[in-house]
Amino acid sequence: MSLAGRTALVTGAGSRGIGRAAVLELARRGADVVIHALDQEAAAGELAAEVRALGRRASVMLADLSRPAAARQLVTDALARFGRLDILVNNASTIIRRPFLEATDDDLDRILAVNLKGYFACAQEAARTMVRAGRPGRIVMVSSVNQTLAVPEQALYCASKGGVMQLAKVMALELAPYGITVNLVAPGTIETDINRHLLADPAFLRRRLEPIPLARIGSPDDVAAAIAFLASEAAGYITGTSIIVDGGLSLP
Ligand code: NAD
Repeated sequence: MSLAGRTALVTGAGSRGIGRAAVLELARRGADVVIHALDQEAAAGELAAEVRALGRRASVMLADLSRPAAARQLVTDALARFGRLDILVNNASTIIRRPFLEATDDDLDRILAVNLKGYFACAQEAARTMVRAGRPGRIVMVSSVNQTLAVPEQALYCASKGGVMQLAKVMALELAPYGITVNLVAPGTIETDINRHLLADPAFLRRRLEPIPLARIGSPDDVAAAIAFLASEAAGYITGTSIIVDGGLSLP
């Protein structure tokens, strides 16, 4: 499962979430990492220092991935920084919780711009880079159990993650001849900046815990382990599929 000699780009790693944990796990396994953040320059800089302390190279890049040109430029800049790009972890996403009857066209545009169009632009640019390099590559999409599981008040988020799932599957088909694998990691409830404020409410926490057979909220490290596996040589014969990291939430 060594990633020595590989270079990875992880998006959405400026917060205390799955992206940050993925950066550290990839670095522990030997990868150099380009750390993308929206605007959290200081936090991303601290993360880069942690990566360097592990003996790996790290670089921080800021970009608003709701802008396709910025997303594409991010991949180009990441390639230029270390001279190669072997692994893309598409992770940066946003969420809007609102009843379906109240959701607006602007809500839909905002969700799709980051969660689907941003993933598309980064993935296409990275795949083109990998094809040009003529080396096998790994693309990991951080999706959600909501790629298939319906949740009230999250119609737009669920739609974006369902779209990412199908995007990844078709990419897997078309990129297989180039030795590029494309897989999804689908987390359940993981405590991160995206939901920390909600999980602090005991009633909300109880409701979230109740349907989880393993009886705990997941950690970013739980998800990072699956990302690192899919990014490794060990996962070389796996493509177009999902690893569900949800403590059994979606079993029933
Ligand atoms: P997070 O809020 O820590 O991470 C999301 C990141 O995306 C943030 O760093 C944010 O700055 C970045 N981002 C948002 N809009 C952006 C934009 N326009 N341009 C660039 N970056 C932008 O939350 P997280 O839980 O670590 O989320 C990581 C991934 O995991 C997301 O794809 C999310 O949908 C998925 N996920 C999380 C959970 C959970 O319970 N935490 C469950 C299922 C799926």
